Amino acid sequence: MKEQLDTFIRIAKELMNEEANTPVLKPMDPEQVFKDLDLELGNSGIDTDRLESALKELVLNTPRTSTNLFFNQLFGGRNGQAVLGELLSVMLNGSMYTYKVGGPMILMEKEILAQIAKRLNFGENYGATLAPGGSMTNMMALIMARDKKAPEVRFEGLQNKMTLYTSTESHYSVPKNASFAGIGRNQIRFIPTNDNGQMSVEELTRAIEDDISEGHTPFFINATAGSTVYGAFDQIDQVAEVAGRHGIWLHVDGAFGGSVLFSDKYKHLLKGVELCDSFSLNAHKTLGVPLACSMIWARDKQDLYVSFSNEASYLYQTANDDLNPGKISLQCGRRNDALKFWTLWKSIGSDGLCKIVDHQFAMARFARDYVRAHPDYDLVVDMESLTVCFNYKGISARELCNSLYQEGEIMVGFGRFREKEFVRLVAVNFELKEEDYSRFFEQMEAFADSHFG
Ligand SMILES: *Cc1c(COP(=O)(O)O)cnc(C)c1O
Repeated sequence: MKEQLDTFIRIAKELMNEEANTPVLKPMDPEQVFKDLDLELGNSGIDTDRLESALKELVLNTPRTSTNLFFNQLFGGRNGQAVLGELLSVMLNGSMYTYKVGGPMILMEKEILAQIAKRLNFGENYGATLAPGGSMTNMMALIMARDKKAPEVRFEGLQNKMTLYTSTESHYSVPKNASFAGIGRNQIRFIPTNDNGQMSVEELTRAIEDDISEGHTPFFINATAGSTVYGAFDQIDQVAEVAGRHGIWLHVDGAFGGSVLFSDKYKHLLKGVELCDSFSLNAHKTLGVPLACSMIWARDKQDLYVSFSNEASYLYQTANDDLNPGKISLQCGRRNDALKFWTLWKSIGSDGLCKIVDHQFAMARFARDYVRAHPDYDLVVDMESLTVCFNYKGISARELCNSLYQEGEIMVGFGRFREKEFVRLVAVNFELKEEDYSRFFEQMEAFADSHFG
């Protein structure tokens, strides 16, 4: 293994050098990739030198999602402390189902979940765990809601039509999960939003009342804290009031924006979150932890047990459920996704996490101010958010983003709200500073002027 560690360091260092010189790669032709990169698997093995060079070529030709010109998704950057934790969890190769196997790692993970439960004001009865991604934590919420409303479904399957509610701006995992959970995509009521992308509480109320009068069973409302395109925060306190009135499970999908709970200045965006039944958060987005670090809290841990526990005598050989988190997970074996977050949090403290969140908002504000001040730009929506949506000189956002990618200039994506398309710049890499955002604009303008002028 020592030899491989040396190889790792050589390749990692070379990657970092290359990233500094060339932050964005031109895309390769997929047909060519297979031949050029020595990807084919054969019957006989290869020597260590050839392996190192094949690996290096593969790594160095992979899109560079950690650089200062990557704004394409809601993750980015590379934080040293978090990566250190991640590398050690790979070394340990443990599994997070029992104290017998996970040992102190179970307590480390519980500490993270407890600290955040405190910020959610979830009281003493909460339960929480991690899952492989925010789509999966959303699915866990949906399943708990289904089982709460109709416990027999776990044994008999669905007997009645059950309906759920989410905004038109919410994440696409909601319809997928409705399909997975046997609820059906057509039982989703997509609730329109206001101009700022927040779910309309009036329309939500109306949709629920209509369904009740039709004899359906409303069971789940998904509120979004930080929508994927606009970064909008639904008004949780108002949605919670509707959910409470009708006895419907309220989940807050905080995959993107939930990290505001670390910030004194921005936690008001989650006003009412203590009233929800479940809450999810991706630390691999604005907090800069490596993919994936997705967590979910249920206000009542019993709901997690009802939906996810299964007896398994070969696995649970020591008694304490509280230290055997396998009893509330989606899967069986579960990798240690907590250590990387713990390493970052331990090293910079909660104050450091607060600074990260505040910095992200400050950077988005800097970019938004720039766009607003320049007559060549159209700022699509003007509100405090972690995304900045704009058009430049009326150029098609789709064509602009695609050419920036094709030419290896900048990785940034376009978004859509109602009928309008626009460039969506995101503040998710917390290591970026004002000069990086200025560089983004300068480079994009020069490119647009020469290619679309
Ligand atoms: C990213 C995101 C998800 C999905 O999270 P994954 O970890 O990518 O599965 C869900 N909801 C929202 C609002 C998101 O931004």
